[in-house]
Amino acid sequence: MKKVNPFRVAKYVLSAHQLKQLPADRGIEVAIAGRSNAGKSSAINTFTDQKSLARTSKTPGRTQQIVIFELDENRRIADLPGYGYAKVPLKLKAHWQNVMASYFETRESLRGVVLVMDIRHPMRDFDQQMLNWCDMAQIPCHILLTKADKLKRGPAQSSLLKLRRDLPAIASAQIFSSLKKTGLDELLDKLSEWYEYDRKAS
Ligand code: GDP
Repeated sequence: MKKVNPFRVAKYVLSAHQLKQLPADRGIEVAIAGRSNAGKSSAINTFTDQKSLARTSKTPGRTQQIVIFELDENRRIADLPGYGYAKVPLKLKAHWQNVMASYFETRESLRGVVLVMDIRHPMRDFDQQMLNWCDMAQIPCHILLTKADKLKRGPAQSSLLKLRRDLPAIASAQIFSSLKKTGLDELLDKLSEWYEYDRKAS
């Protein structure tokens, strides 16, 4: 039986500079995080099956806001700012770290975090911090090792196994490629679990 993709309906709602601008804290929210240029926008476009829902930008570090997409009135995607880029001023970086820390601590509807990493450069400081916040708040974190098409199968697999060795209990990881759609089904299954969707339903 062909499984459905419930994320095609995602649509843009708002961009928030502060937590108080976010939609009401109810239902289920899943956050997507990743350093600038990791491939986060491409991953969002891939799993929602939309060409340009999340903008793929050529100017890393520019988006300093939380972008909300809606699936229905009780299910949201929160696209978190990827401030892990050297060109972002330190002050702004510190500001966003505070905003992010309180987002993780206070957001009741936050069900899980998808953490996008370039498979060739996994677990940078930004990623470690995200993982720590998830661990502290006991929020599941699913790591996408994306751009897997840039590596051969063997090295991609060993990168995954190496990463899995040191993960906290709240974390899981998989290989992904937006270009080749590698691992898309696995990601859709994980998201469906968090959003309480039945992918077999038509
Ligand atoms: P973001 O800054 O994390 O949102 O990253 P983007 O999605 O904008 O991607 C950054 C760059 O990596 C762009 O040039 C994308 O075309 C490229 N990219 C993203 N995902 C993949 C992938 O799966 N495979 C390959 N080969 N390139 C990718």
